[in-house]
Amino acid sequence: MSSDHSYTGPASVEIADEAAPSEAPSPDLLNELVAANHILFDQGVVDAFGHVAVRHDKRPDRFFLARNMAPGQVTRDDIVEFTLDGKAVDAGGRRVYLERFIHGQILRARPDVNAVVHSHSHSIVPLSVVQGVQLKAIFHMAGFIGTGAPVFEIREAGGDSTDLLISNNELGRALAQKLDRHDIVLMRGHGSTVAGNSVKQAVYRAVYAELNARYQLQAMQLGEVTFLTPGESLACIKNVEGQVQRPWDLWLEQARLRRSGNGAL
Ligand code: MN
Repeated sequence: MSSDHSYTGPASVEIADEAAPSEAPSPDLLNELVAANHILFDQGVVDAFGHVAVRHDKRPDRFFLARNMAPGQVTRDDIVEFTLDGKAVDAGGRRVYLERFIHGQILRARPDVNAVVHSHSHSIVPLSVVQGVQLKAIFHMAGFIGTGAPVFEIREAGGDSTDLLISNNELGRALAQKLDRHDIVLMRGHGSTVAGNSVKQAVYRAVYAELNARYQLQAMQLGEVTFLTPGESLACIKNVEGQVQRPWDLWLEQARLRRSGNGAL
């Protein structure tokens, strides 16, 4: 399943002059990225770990990601600009995420993708490690998962002694290849990465991927599970994901109320 099923553009994003100074992004884009960090924490998709990136709205070969920190505490000042090779443009000495290559290489391989969420959300991990069991769309809110999410086996790209992290461009490329035209890729013994054409869509998908995984684990204990057909999955993407604004507004308000309740405006 691809974010844009009629996509016919270039096969990958060209890298422009890396030294060229970047045009300022829309302030709304960065505000949305900060909000996404808070929502993903509040919804239990990320904890102290995990991250969300968005493509630069004026330079498709650049993206934004927080510095190395817990997503729930990210502010506008913590956002760093990167090239698609994962080089920080303006880190100013700040530590950056080891796994930034996930975002850069997916954004390079998929011009139709503008936002990426990487997490270790709780119900996904069991489905990444059992042979013969695959995450599949089980309900209408998660049609984007389709009839079977691919699983990235890091041993195939990095041998059997890695720390399982996507810590360089080679591993990032291998992960992007496994994602292929899907919207989610599981990472064995690690978590998952979700792609969307906007921050709101990627956040929506990350939240509902976790819920789908939880339902699937519960249903598999009861008996044989009926999953969505390919046609149902596609219809649900079209008809349900047109409404990503509604959960976004609710989740953002809830995250803000909780932050202010904790004295962390
Ligand atoms: Mn990770």
